[in-house]
Amino acid sequence: MNPKIDFIINELIKLYPDAHCSLNHRNAFELLIAVVLSAQTTDERVNQVTPTLFARYPDALAMSLANVDEVAKIIHSIGLYRNKSRNVVILSKDIQERFKGEVPSKRHELMSLPGVGKKTANVVLADAFNIPAMAVDTHVSRIAKRLGLAKYDDDVLNIEAKLCRKIPRHLWIRMHHTMIYFGRYMCHSLNPNCNECPFKHLCKRQKYEKK
Ligand code: SF4
Repeated sequence: MNPKIDFIINELIKLYPDAHCSLNHRNAFELLIAVVLSAQTTDERVNQVTPTLFARYPDALAMSLANVDEVAKIIHSIGLYRNKSRNVVILSKDIQERFKGEVPSKRHELMSLPGVGKKTANVVLADAFNIPAMAVDTHVSRIAKRLGLAKYDDDVLNIEAKLCRKIPRHLWIRMHHTMIYFGRYMCHSLNPNCNECPFKHLCKRQKYEKK
């Protein structure tokens, strides 16, 4: 394997050996709904509303029959809650009607669901079904560029393709989580904690980002 990739993988695992999905969930349905709710808000905020939401609507059938205003009341503390309330009910109806209430475990089927893009599908494949996938969110994208695993003008699809090519398949899920932790707790977007960082010598931030 490439020594630089080796180094990055080993250091990230050393830094965050327990990195895992931060959205609380007990099954694929809960994870899918939580991911949809997490757009433009923090996982922490989503975790505050999902216990009540899933107690009331525990599966696709129950959620498909939910009153959108009732869902909105439960999730009103998160951003875009009106749209998200509508979306999770529509999504649940589709799962109920087309997949007998079970979240599908095939990428193309997941991506055929309303509002489910590649990133959401990758998260569900990886964290609900343990199928290797590399979801590229804002943290993963920033870290991939700063560590030179992708170029600064790469789009999300290019970044995903490059990460999947460079990182061994059996480590995709783990690297996805460690990169998110690294982005969340050290390599912040605006004020990264560079003094503590093991990747200073290979970091591209100074070169490509304005201070
Ligand atoms: S040196 Fe700073 S900006 Fe670069 S990867 Fe490390 S924490 Fe991020």
